[in-house]
Amino acid sequence: MSVLVYAEHTAGSFRKPAYEAVSYAKAIADTLDTSVTAISIGPVDESELISLGKYGATTVLHVAANELKQFINQAYASVIAAAADHVDAPLVIISNSFSGKGLAPRVAAKLKGGLADGAVELPVFESGKLTVKKTAFSGKAFAMAELVSDRKVISLNVNTFEVREIGGNARVEAFNPQVAANDLTTVIQDIVRTTDSVSLPDAEIVVSGGRGLKGPEHWGMIEELAEVLGAATACSKPVSDAGWRPHSEHVGQTGITVSPKLYIAIGISGAIQHLAGVSSSKTIVVINKDPEAPFFKVADYGIVGDAFEVVPKLTAAIKAYKG
Ligand code: FAD
Repeated sequence: MSVLVYAEHTAGSFRKPAYEAVSYAKAIADTLDTSVTAISIGPVDESELISLGKYGATTVLHVAANELKQFINQAYASVIAAAADHVDAPLVIISNSFSGKGLAPRVAAKLKGGLADGAVELPVFESGKLTVKKTAFSGKAFAMAELVSDRKVISLNVNTFEVREIGGNARVEAFNPQVAANDLTTVIQDIVRTTDSVSLPDAEIVVSGGRGLKGPEHWGMIEELAEVLGAATACSKPVSDAGWRPHSEHVGQTGITVSPKLYIAIGISGAIQHLAGVSSSKTIVVINKDPEAPFFKVADYGIVGDAFEVVPKLTAAIKAYKG
């Protein structure tokens, strides 16, 4: 018996969502007094697979089949379910990433198990039941989901569980389950990037704007600052509600949770619902013209000033510093 975790990779490299999922699986496996088996599908180097041991995986099942090089939802779900049978997993952990959102319900259905999607905390086990806090209604509320089935699937919200490095190497095993032809009805010919901008959930630096920017026509200075820093852009909820920015940039309790090294909040008051999505940032810099703005209470560095004066100067200074 082992807790199974799907370790998602991008072009052969694991990223933070995979490390979070393995760390989460390890914490659960410790409670259940068992081990963690990770499954990785597609071309990933052996050294990368071994490195999942750092986060608590004892074994990594590697599926290298040529027809599974690219992500195919139903085929990947079948392979993960087969791996769950292979290691007799009572519980499967999947990151609630873009691909995980499609995979987790399919895996649960194949295992005839219950699903808690969008978990934000470790589950509690009590007499065969598992209870876990998860987001509900598109993140507008939390729910306590109780799973009573024998097999269980949890998808973990990105950036809600810390990555825990505990050291060690994982053992890599080839895993070659039969893939049914009707799981391979989609063939991905090519993947074309439509943007070069940094993905918000993965970003190490985030430049975020609020209602203090007055309108969408002023976002050029936010984008310029983000560009010189190699950062992703984000915004507060009223900004996306007003259509100044896309909803995919909305950060907070009802939006995306980010956990960057540096979060720069410009013209954002710092309401608790906004802070809920950014408070695990390592360093927070706040630019606001109101010295009483609540964001300053959680800021590591604060600049009291008009964003329309401060931001262009800051961008110019960073450009000059970088040469
Ligand atoms: P404001 O509160 O209007 O603040 C604007 C700030 O800009 C002020 O502090 C002002 O001093 C400053 N400012 C103005 N002009 C300038 C200038 N020239 N230079 C510098 N600073 C300036 N909000 C979220 O962000 N994310 C969420 O997920 C979220 N979820 C919510 C869920 C619920 C159930 C509810 C009730 C609310 C939620 N909210 C959320 C809304 C939240 O309560 C706040 O209303 C919102 O965060 C405020 O956005 P803001 O800071 O951009 O705007």
